[in-house]
Amino acid sequence: MTTTPYSGEVEFDGVSISAEAHRLLSAGTVPHLIGGREVLSESGATRDIVNPSTGSVLGHVAAGSAAELDRAVLAAREAFDDGRWRNLVPRERERRLVRLAELIEQNASVVGDLDALDAGILRRYADYIATYSANALRYFAGWPTKMAGSLPPVGPDYVVQERIEPVGVMGVIKPWNGPAAVFAQCAPALAAGNSVVLKPAEHTPLSAAYLGTLALEAGIPDGVFNIVHGDAAVGRAMVEHPGVNRISFTGSVGTGRAIAASAAHTFKKVNLELGGKSPVLVFADADLATAAQMATHSVWNNSGQVCTAGTRTFVQRSIYEDFLDEAVRYSSDKKVGNAFDPQTDLGPLITPEQQAKVQRYIQVGQEEGASLRYLGAADSATGGNYVPPVIFADVRNDMTIAREEIFGPVMSVIPFEDEDEAYRLANDSQFGLAGGVFTRDIARAHRAADALDVGTVWINCYQVTDAAVSYGGAKSSGYGRSLGRPALDEYTRCKSVWSRNY
Ligand code: NAD
Repeated sequence: MTTTPYSGEVEFDGVSISAEAHRLLSAGTVPHLIGGREVLSESGATRDIVNPSTGSVLGHVAAGSAAELDRAVLAAREAFDDGRWRNLVPRERERRLVRLAELIEQNASVVGDLDALDAGILRRYADYIATYSANALRYFAGWPTKMAGSLPPVGPDYVVQERIEPVGVMGVIKPWNGPAAVFAQCAPALAAGNSVVLKPAEHTPLSAAYLGTLALEAGIPDGVFNIVHGDAAVGRAMVEHPGVNRISFTGSVGTGRAIAASAAHTFKKVNLELGGKSPVLVFADADLATAAQMATHSVWNNSGQVCTAGTRTFVQRSIYEDFLDEAVRYSSDKKVGNAFDPQTDLGPLITPEQQAKVQRYIQVGQEEGASLRYLGAADSATGGNYVPPVIFADVRNDMTIAREEIFGPVMSVIPFEDEDEAYRLANDSQFGLAGGVFTRDIARAHRAADALDVGTVWINCYQVTDAAVSYGGAKSSGYGRSLGRPALDEYTRCKSVWSRNY
């Protein structure tokens, strides 16, 4: 394997990483961050941190429990109640959030090393996720000075203020497929003046732990940004905790459903960013090469472990075979391997369990009659949880591989005859996260945008994001919005204050 050209200061687990990332990994058990202090679990419990590219143990992380969660919520509550953050003048909150964005940008290669190590994110791409978090901070840093309420007109006897207030303690639960993207949810929460308790995914604690230290360095006061590492039990404790006011959850549909049900008991509002099975519609008049490349890349990106992956590609019958040829051509030189190898296009899946699950779907696809049009090579990729990219042709929308979220590099290409059929098939899914349409007909593009029952539509492009643009799902893909102005509503509440004019 060729090692990374990105940092290259210290050899670790067969690759070259930055001295700072190495320092973190050598410092002993990765701690929680509670009340501004790095602490281990009361029980002393730890969990292995495993490199999905090699299967080797990188280090250990404190395995939290309801006890650590409770301490973090208390610390967050205290910080909220004494106003050390929410009562700072807004421009000072802005300054510190911008400072945090700057620190992340300056240290993006450290964050990138950490995400490549424990999440298997391609090293040559991983800095982008750090930048994504920094961009979210920069965008939301602008809001504290602009979150004005309103004065509704109610006649001469009263003055009414409708105030926009932080909600208190926000619980944020994240998945493993983009660990450093934590500030997509935490930035609006902090900008609004809340305290945050973050639970990263159990498999990927490293970049979150490092970002916690940067938050302290940026001047986010102790107790305002807390991190408790742990598994589903810590997540459940967070949702049930009476001291947590709202939950922002990103993860699978099943977990989202359990969280919504549990949150109902304590009347917590939840924001659910769940899974997808996103349709990409390619019409006969589209720029075929661009459409094939973007649709296919969206499934190979992060080895298919992206919620918006365009895993159901609907192609108009007259260009169906040409599209498949183009998709196969685009895929044929893609290499599967260690996330740190600059030649790698598809890294590992997160765990051996996820690898086995994806392999089962590939088997089921063949058993149900889809034709395996392309099977990439993963032979030389050993030691990690590798799955080669797969393109299925002759897929029907009612096959298992078209209905369930696979979360691996498996693309299903489905033919359609006309617009009506394309929209009907695209919407025939429990999911509604995102969708794409490729056509040169502007009127049809807008008809498609109207017709698709999803939270984001990309026209002649795919998976473009910007912190200024909100994002979220429909149907089983969840509710609530991340990013953009609408995200602030998820992290604030409205209070009406009436005063009588004597
Ligand atoms: P997951 O639901 O298994 O776990 C996500 C997080 O929830 C983890 O931190 C986990 O420890 C925690 N958790 C598990 N059970 C819990 C419970 N009962 N109560 C509270 N917390 C619990 O998801 P995953 O497998 O880690 O992530 C992959 C999924 O995330 C995919 O379905 C993917 O589409 C989705 N995802 C969605 C988006 C989006 O923005 N819509 C973004 C990324 C990933």
